[in-house]
Amino acid sequence: KICNPPIGVSGDPTGVSPEIIEACKELNMTNDQLKQYMDSLLDNIQKGLKKETNATAIVKCFPTFVQDIPDGTEKGQFLALDLGGSNFRVLYIELGGQDVQKFQIFVIPDNVRVGSGDKLFDFIAEALANYANELGVADKNLPLGFTFSFPLKQVGLEVGLLERWTKGFDCPDTVGKDVVELLKNAIAKRGDVQIKIAAVLNDTTGTLLAAAYKYPDTKIGLILGTGTNACYIEKQSEAELFDEPDRGSGKNGGAFGDDGALDFVRTDYDKDVDANSLNPGKQLHEKMISGMYLGELVRLATERFTKEGKMFGGQASNDLSTRGKFETRYVSEIEWDPPGDFTNVKKVCEKLGLSQATEEDYLNLKYICSCFSRRAAHLVSAGLATIINKMGEKTLSVGIDGTLYRLHPQVKRLMEGKIKELVDPGIQVKLVLSEDGSGKGAAMVAAVAAKNDT
Ligand code: BGC
Ligand code: MG
Repeated sequence: KICNPPIGVSGDPTGVSPEIIEACKELNMTNDQLKQYMDSLLDNIQKGLKKETNATAIVKCFPTFVQDIPDGTEKGQFLALDLGGSNFRVLYIELGGQDVQKFQIFVIPDNVRVGSGDKLFDFIAEALANYANELGVADKNLPLGFTFSFPLKQVGLEVGLLERWTKGFDCPDTVGKDVVELLKNAIAKRGDVQIKIAAVLNDTTGTLLAAAYKYPDTKIGLILGTGTNACYIEKQSEAELFDEPDRGSGKNGGAFGDDGALDFVRTDYDKDVDANSLNPGKQLHEKMISGMYLGELVRLATERFTKEGKMFGGQASNDLSTRGKFETRYVSEIEWDPPGDFTNVKKVCEKLGLSQATEEDYLNLKYICSCFSRRAAHLVSAGLATIINKMGEKTLSVGIDGTLYRLHPQVKRLMEGKIKELVDPGIQVKLVLSEDGSGKGAAMVAAVAAKNDT
């Protein structure tokens, strides 16, 4: 979508039923609530950064072990793996001169996503081997950056102990293990590809680095996609878990709220989404915001309002009553309809078997979507503002990637407005799109590691 989004229509109540507006009020967070949230998040970040409190902290602030921001002189051929978003990808990247990037997408079957770790890592190794062979680089021992977008306790650039699975993945026998080791073993078992794993990184780290390559004042990387998380450049003195000389970078996570800190704003829909997830009680912050859950939140509210007789003539369809049937991309599509135009919302209603929908239903549904996406944008903004105020820089860019950020027509604008309201006076923040941080960023970390190796 490259056209300009319809301006100013998110949350427009014109033509929306008063009872729907009333029922959605709890989704509108006031600045006072957001500030309460910020205080509590800051407290959690401080605990995550400190050695003595990290073990029990909800927001872990794991160091990334990345100490150098790319300076544009990185060059060479790299492979990268990107696991943990809406797609699993194997990438080939050339840096220096003309940047080249090719990738192949693989769909991870449900019985691989959930089950034994061997199956998952064998699947990853097979995809890597096949693609490397196809490109004729399988015997080149290329450095590989492994973007692994789940909580990892890194103990080095190439060592990461899995803290937990999120976003619909669950291979319990791998928790606590080094995912680089698991990958190495799976590759060695095959014997048909020679690579050197140079680094394992979170997608937020890749996003920060890929953005910094283009915008040198980038100091935060944010993912607003299937999941949500951020990383930022922290002073060495603050990052107690990072024992190396020089500077480290801290991260914070979607796990915020797992101790009840968000209970004052969580709704019945949030509780329902959590209770029916693979990781109940975990990642509560992420579950209010990210792409894996947003569509389901809208579905739950819409189903409830329909059963209460407020929408669709009181008649819920099968799909409207089925978990997962309201995809998050529908939320974005519906909000792309300009005022007075019902093209996308009509299509979605038809897809869901709600062909009885009236114009008022369309307006109601769009309003519900906008309330949830606005809440997500405001929560993310408050999270960013917390980090930004803590960092104390006067100007900076935030590199952002993720399906929700890219596809939703209003999220960026909502964030820009709310961040301005929540950061300390005099701070200038720019939101920049980080082009494929999970791929390019992975190559950059591998490149920086290779530089330090020689
Ligand atoms: C994971 C993070 C990741 C984020 C965005 C979360 O579920 O825990 O590690 O950065 O998703 O992909
Ligand atoms: Mg990704």
